[in-house]
Parts: sequence; C-alpha cells; structure tokens
Amino acid sequence: MAGERRKTAEKTHVFKFLAEKKAAGLVRHIGFSFHDTADILEQILSEHPEVDFVQLQLNYLDWENEIIQSHKCYETAKRHGKPVIVMEPVKGGTLAKIPTEAEKLLKDAAPDMSAASWAIRFAASHDNVMLVLSGMSNMEQLCDNLSYMEDFKPFTEAEFTLVQKAAEIINKSVTIPCTGCSYCTHNCPVNIAIPKYFSLYNANMQELETKAWTAQTMLYGHFAEQFGKASACVGCGQCEKMCPQHLPVRKWLKQVAERFEGNIS
Ligand code: SF4
Ligand code: SF4
Repeated sequence: MAGERRKTAEKTHVFKFLAEKKAAGLVRHIGFSFHDTADILEQILSEHPEVDFVQLQLNYLDWENEIIQSHKCYETAKRHGKPVIVMEPVKGGTLAKIPTEAEKLLKDAAPDMSAASWAIRFAASHDNVMLVLSGMSNMEQLCDNLSYMEDFKPFTEAEFTLVQKAAEIINKSVTIPCTGCSYCTHNCPVNIAIPKYFSLYNANMQELETKAWTAQTMLYGHFAEQFGKASACVGCGQCEKMCPQHLPVRKWLKQVAERFEGNIS
C-alpha cells in the first residue's frame, strides 16, 4: 500500500470492511501489502491496530536501502506486534544471479549453497517473520528451497555480516535497482517495455566498455520493434507513480536511450 493507495483505502473504508468480515468469521486474519516509508507504515498501524499482519518487501539488498526501507519497515511492524509476510526475498530473481565477486564470497563460506538460499534464509532469519513468499519457477528451485527450509537454521551473526558484504558488492554493480514487477507499464501511453530495458541496461553496464557489440544492444533493437523505444517517453510520469521502488524511470529511460539507440536502426 503506497501513499495514494492508502488514501483510496481510507476513502473506500476498506479497513472497516475487512474488520466486519473478520468479525463475521469469514476471514481469519487481515493485513496488507506495503510499499512505502516506515513513517507511513507507522501512521497506518497506529490508526488500524485491528490489522493482524503486514506484507513487506524484505531482502538483504534492500535491508538498509533508504528508499525501500526494509529494515525500518520491519522494525515498525515488530514494534506494533504485527508479524511480517515477506515478499521479494530474492528481489525478483536479482539475488539468485549475483555478480561473480559476491557469488565467490558466499561460495567460499558454503560451497553447496545456492545464491538464492542466502537471500531466502536471510528473510526467514528474522524473528518477527511469519512467512517468506519465495517465488519458484521450476523443480530445481523447489528442491533447492526445500533443502534448506525443511530443517531451517537461522543465520548466525557471521552470516548476517557476510550478506551485508555481498550487498555492498551487488550495489556497486547494479545500476538501476528495478525488480521487474512491471507495475509501471500498465498505463504507459507509448507502451515502453520499461523493466526489459532496465534489465538490458544493467546487464550492459557489466560489460567491458571496450566491447563493440553486445547481445543487450541487439535485444534492445528487437524489443524496440514491438514496444515504444526509450526515447519515445513523453514524460507523463504515470510509471513513476506506480513504481514500488520509487525509481526515477524517466531519468533512467534517457540513459537507456543514450546507451542503446545510437546503435540500432
Ligand atoms: S513517463 Fe514515459 S515511460 Fe513513464 S508512463 Fe509516461 S511515457 Fe511511459
Ligand atoms: S521500474 Fe519500478 S515498477 Fe517498473 S518494473 Fe522496475 S521496479 Fe517495477
């Protein structure tokens, strides 16, 4: 629930509606998904003590991020006695495929553990977390997940320190911290493939600067035939209102256009 959605929730008396359904025995637990600052969460939980849980974006990369505020939001929920359901523990897959330097750091500590396992265990290691929603898209990921969650062992202090170091390395290499959720694309009047372009841009930024050709540039050309180009942005700002990561989408699209469009026809 972001600032704008909060106003809609109040206007439509959603909290009252949910409390009534709970009182009638139709709903056991009520809560909400939240993407905003800890201050706003504080206000909502103070005004609505009837809420049973909060769903937060929580992962080791966003933990101390000043925009996402995973840590601050977590502490706010905990202070109000509201258990947390974790969304985005692997940050849309970002933490399953981390830069080589960060991967080496984690592999040196535990050679058999996947990068994703560190992300999911980090989320599950906080005592006020009741559930971690870990998206899995194939049997391999399901088996990996079960291998460390069936007999779950919370992080040690040393492991917390290690993922903080991994986060520092990753933050240095990921230029646009887009999770690929696609909320931004729904109302774009020129149908720009924003998350696809950001993902290509991030991958391209990890290439050697001297490289004359990259697969990303080629892919950008393909996407730009189906969707609006980054340079087609009319600056309406609809995307930024929808972005849970509060990314300056328009600014980054200019960078994307500069990076890719000189090389496509
Ligand atoms: S600001 Fe640009 S990218 Fe964002 S919705 Fe408007 S046209 Fe699309
Ligand atoms: S720019 Fe924001 S809303 Fe769009 S995909 Fe990325 S994180 Fe999601």
